[in-house]
Amino acid sequence: MNYQSTRNKALKISSAEAIVSGISKDGGLFVPTEMPKLSPEEIKAMGDMSYTERAEVVFGKFLTDFTESEIKSCVESAYSHGSFDTENVMELKTLKPGEHILELWHGPTCAFKDMALQILPHLLTTSVKKTGTDKKVCILVATSGDTGKAALEGFKDAPGTGILVFYPENGVSAMQKLQMITQEGSNVGVCAIKGNFDDAQTGVKKIFTDPEVAAKLSENGIMFSSANSINWGRLAPQIVYYVSSYAQLVKDGKIAFGDMINVCVPTGNFGNILAAYYAKLMGIPIGKLICASNSNNVLTDFLRTGVYDRNRKFYTTISPSMDILISSNLERLLYHLSGCDDKYISKLYKDLAETGRFEVSEAIKAILQDIFYADFCTEDETKATISETYEKYGYTIDTHTAVAVGVYNKYAAETGDTKDCVIASTASPYKFPAAVLESLGDKSSYADEFEMAEALNKKSGMAVPKALSDLKSKKPRFTGSVEKTEMLGAVYSMLGINR
Ligand SMILES: *Cc1c(COP(=O)(O)O)cnc(C)c1O
Repeated sequence: MNYQSTRNKALKISSAEAIVSGISKDGGLFVPTEMPKLSPEEIKAMGDMSYTERAEVVFGKFLTDFTESEIKSCVESAYSHGSFDTENVMELKTLKPGEHILELWHGPTCAFKDMALQILPHLLTTSVKKTGTDKKVCILVATSGDTGKAALEGFKDAPGTGILVFYPENGVSAMQKLQMITQEGSNVGVCAIKGNFDDAQTGVKKIFTDPEVAAKLSENGIMFSSANSINWGRLAPQIVYYVSSYAQLVKDGKIAFGDMINVCVPTGNFGNILAAYYAKLMGIPIGKLICASNSNNVLTDFLRTGVYDRNRKFYTTISPSMDILISSNLERLLYHLSGCDDKYISKLYKDLAETGRFEVSEAIKAILQDIFYADFCTEDETKATISETYEKYGYTIDTHTAVAVGVYNKYAAETGDTKDCVIASTASPYKFPAAVLESLGDKSSYADEFEMAEALNKKSGMAVPKALSDLKSKKPRFTGSVEKTEMLGAVYSMLGINR
């Protein structure tokens, strides 16, 4: 099986090449040329498998240029070496019959990005070897908080790699900053910049695409690569947990084999919900995909009307990882729904670049409305959902998960659909303790994030993740900051290259 670009389907490459390149030179994203299927027997057999075994089956379908032992080695290094605080890697908690919370935050940074970023370094280093270069890979990341830390944890001490993360000096939460500046590992660097997230992102893009920089790196045996969420190596691992959830629900007797389920996902860049769509295409009996947004509800409007319009107010919300107006992975969905029409997709995204807006055909609009249900939660609705879920079930959810639960409640009330639903829970409530405590009616003021965590522990009864409580005793390693014009200097100095 090969991979092709959503903007030029004549370009066909292997999965290893797709993972090394990240994004296609024409600006398109890589997608599989055909969708592999799981037979009913294969799905049934997964009931008795571990998470890593289920992952091996799914990866085997997509990474056909990898050997079985390469896949096994990547999967085991990521998921069975103790970096997740549960042996199952993910957990399914049933709130009430039919409503299941899929906890995806048991990894080292307590957010669902670990599910993909724990395995990406292994997929990437294997891919680099397979494509025949012996260059060292340097990962550059601009982060508004979660991605940077998850990438650092994934790449720390990964042989043949180095990672450098830039974050806006005053643009991340106290907990997120602490997570990054205390990062361990011999191949990592973290650098604050005097600017905002856009400055960091623009700076990284500039360094990435500068041919002089690429030449200088090449002389030194180094190449850049990306851990960004448009890399196929981040998407494939996310399909696994939807397949695994179905197998688990059957095994636990919650549903009968063959029963349809719905899936509800708190959405930003559209990667997580797209993975659920791929699981559906592979043969998992998934009915509706419920797309939950916060006040930045560009996707709600798009899925309802067929008009994507980013010309709107940007809100800073209590679910910051969903504060996004350009959902990159949507391009992959539209490519599939258009019957792989690369010319059409190029046109849509040219419109988006030039006018901030595009409108899809009536035919695509009809399919979207058939497959998806979309709605959003305001800030007040999000807080009320945290409180209600706690009162009803004694279960504490974070602000992102609350957006999904809130939208699921709207869906259930509006449609009366009683099919079992898997609701993706994307972060531990301990990652956003201030907003969660406030939602639970706690009006006290706390000295720092650790005091808040203690208070939340008393209320929720959930253990404080060790990864977060350990931060208290860790010494900051990366306290420097640079002007936004000095980012290249920081990269060269980290790599030991003279300018
Ligand atoms: C990244 C993130 C999301 C959004 O996921 P997408 O794949 O970008 O749609 C939701 N919740 C949390 C906690 C995240 O970190």
